[in-house]
Amino acid sequence: MKQFDDEAFRKAGYEMIDWIADYHKNVESYPVLSKAQPGNILSKLPTKAPEMPESFSEIMKDVDDIIMPGITHWQSPNFFAFFPSNNSGPSVLGEMLSAGLGVQGMLWLTSPACTELEIKVLDWLVDLLDLPQMYKSTGAGGGVIQDTASSASLCALLAARHQVSEGNAPKTGMPDNFAAYTSDQAHSSMAKAANIAGMGTERLRMISTDENFAMQSEALEKAILEDKASGGQPFFVAATIGTTSTLANDPLPEIAEICKKHHCWLHVDAAMSGTAAICEEYRKIHKGLENADSYTFNPHKWMLTNFDCNAFYLKDRKMLTHTMSILPEYLRNAATEKSEVVDYRDWQVPLGRRFRALKLWFVLRMYGAEHIREMVRKHVGLAEDLAERIASHPKLVLAAPLSLNLVCFRHTDGNEKTQQIMEEINASGNAYLSHTKLNEHYVIRVSVGQAKTEKEHIDRLWGIIEDRC
Ligand SMILES: *Cc1c(COP(=O)(O)O)cnc(C)c1O
Repeated sequence: MKQFDDEAFRKAGYEMIDWIADYHKNVESYPVLSKAQPGNILSKLPTKAPEMPESFSEIMKDVDDIIMPGITHWQSPNFFAFFPSNNSGPSVLGEMLSAGLGVQGMLWLTSPACTELEIKVLDWLVDLLDLPQMYKSTGAGGGVIQDTASSASLCALLAARHQVSEGNAPKTGMPDNFAAYTSDQAHSSMAKAANIAGMGTERLRMISTDENFAMQSEALEKAILEDKASGGQPFFVAATIGTTSTLANDPLPEIAEICKKHHCWLHVDAAMSGTAAICEEYRKIHKGLENADSYTFNPHKWMLTNFDCNAFYLKDRKMLTHTMSILPEYLRNAATEKSEVVDYRDWQVPLGRRFRALKLWFVLRMYGAEHIREMVRKHVGLAEDLAERIASHPKLVLAAPLSLNLVCFRHTDGNEKTQQIMEEINASGNAYLSHTKLNEHYVIRVSVGQAKTEKEHIDRLWGIIEDRC
């Protein structure tokens, strides 16, 4: 193409980096939550795609005028909603290189480095988080980068089905007596996975939780026994380390014991909290993990690696690859036939895959584990600081035990008042908070996890919360 050759790319590329660097530098100056109303952005965009080329500078002008007003600033240090999706310079550089190489890594053959770097960085993470060694690629297990924890949990469910069907799963589908278990605080992706896997949500039993929102293991065993008594086949239990509402931890050692006894696959979803295990003092969250068949966490939440990047591990990779592998003639090749290599297409739902390991590799190398630990400790410390102030305020109460970097609280005047505080803060643009419901209480969640969040931001947030009490 004439208008946009390699030299034009070089020039625009420098400008783009400048733009992104300026954005990161000034991110705090925007209202955190976009003020756009539904349809605002849509109405400013032309109805038809252009017939003739437009310039980079024309497009960037529209980025400033049309796109930016519709951006919610996830990288703002005043972003405390949902869970973080933090990024970093090294991650963006790795992402850029991945796009620049334009590699599609479905098979080892289609870019050996794409597969082998992924194997290596995932093995690194096993050691960095002190995960069980069985998840390393050197034994029967192994790790893979998925787009999201949702996909990882779906894959875990499919691998479990394969194991219990003694390898017949692709032929027999999901028999209608199969039953799976998770807690009533588990992420919605578990219900979605059950639906996609064709078992429906009814046979995904939602086990009740205790006063700290952790799964009640006696209730789990009771449900399994009831299903067995009525001809059911329990096969899969998903435990959560760091639930989405409150970062509660299910009791892994007890759950693992029950899984063993009843021959159920144990999957552990630590999407957000997993990263904390990079620090020795938080590794206790993973106690019992040595008995889990699969495990997943999101470097794209709290590990400075921009979305999407999920790490998914299996104790026995064959259970997944055997259920996912379908080898059409056009993908046949010598390396695959000889089973000398990993073909990651067999570890995921799509065929094609991006070179996501690059950004994680850049992050791990350019920060070093020590700086990631520093960030995690900083966030946990800031959350503790905020929780103390909330606990000692006469009108506020902590709505769940403080866990790592998430503070949940409510106002003693009730749900309306709590909701009003949050909505006023969000509308002001000074910070962005989100909510959950716990035992009919409306609860504000403050999730501290953006790379640039410092004490001054927590002080300011506390100031604006206090003003509204
Ligand atoms: C965020 C979250 C998920 C979903 O993460 P995706 O990567 O967006 O699918 C799943 N489980 C838990 C516990 C989460 O906190």
